[in-house]
Amino acid sequence: MTRVVLERPGVVEVDGDVNVRPSHPDEALVRLRLGGLCGSDLAAYRGTSPHVRYPRVLGHELLVDVLTCRSRPELCGKRAIVDPMIRCGRCRACRLGRYNACEYLQVMGVHVDGGFQDPWLVRADSLFTVPDTVPDNAAVLAEPLAVAFHAVQRGAPKAGSTCVVFGAGAIGLLISQLLVRARGCRAIVVDVNETRRRIARELGCAAVSGTGTALVDVVSEMTNGEMADVVFEATGNELCTAMTTAVASYAGRIVLVGWNRGPVEIDTVTLMRKEVDVLGSRNSRDAFPAVMRLLEDGVVNADAMITHRFAVTEAPEALRLLDVGVEQALKIVLAPDHEPGL
Ligand SMILES: [Zn+2]
Ligand SMILES: [Zn+2]
Repeated sequence: MTRVVLERPGVVEVDGDVNVRPSHPDEALVRLRLGGLCGSDLAAYRGTSPHVRYPRVLGHELLVDVLTCRSRPELCGKRAIVDPMIRCGRCRACRLGRYNACEYLQVMGVHVDGGFQDPWLVRADSLFTVPDTVPDNAAVLAEPLAVAFHAVQRGAPKAGSTCVVFGAGAIGLLISQLLVRARGCRAIVVDVNETRRRIARELGCAAVSGTGTALVDVVSEMTNGEMADVVFEATGNELCTAMTTAVASYAGRIVLVGWNRGPVEIDTVTLMRKEVDVLGSRNSRDAFPAVMRLLEDGVVNADAMITHRFAVTEAPEALRLLDVGVEQALKIVLAPDHEPGL
């Protein structure tokens, strides 16, 4: 029985006093099978997240085994992934069906305690079963893949179009794989890190580095001067965000999916001249069934994405590694010490 608690920025405790018993029929008792760490966890760890209050149990990218569930007994004994979003159901976004942008959205592991507690009681309606053919390594990517899927839906690139993706982190590379392997698009991935560019190429993308006019020249050359039909910004870096207008085509689209630390100045005159659509993309909605099918079809190369694996009890080391930003660290996962399903 373990819990990964971020006591305050930089201080991770793994404690063992978890005692849970389902009290409500809509709760499921689950055990952790595999969990992912990402940029949101890093922001919480560094104390730069505007959403996190401390102490906080981390964990929002979760693959679990369902032990008991009174309201959905068919889940028992199954592997499931967790949709970590808790919507209010009443605000304007929720009323419009766009609950991913709920004004009062609470994300498990961010606004409220998450799933790095083993065992754990979670709402039964947040669980989606995983088909037997999907390996654990792929299933644990379902949550970030849903975020990438939503961004691609927002950008709606046509088959045969060229897209630029800023950032070869997990979200950028998941977007790129969807573009190349599920949308019939060409993806040009921009990243300063050579290792990540190599992974992007292995996944079937073109990969370039550079900023400013050098980058504009490269993209221009690769697109016969037409630039990118859709640009995805998946870094949250302000220089990259500012570059999106320069690499977007006339009548193109820009999808912002990386969170900036603060407001960023962009070239509105170029946006007007090119009549570019700028779209925000936040979390995901109604994406998990489609995401599960895409994982079943092998659209994502999980083994290329998961670079590090730690025991849950080693969570402090895992977060330290994420913080240091080791060159090769792309997706870090945590696995429990016990045998899966026990
Ligand atoms: Zn995440
Ligand atoms: Zn709402």
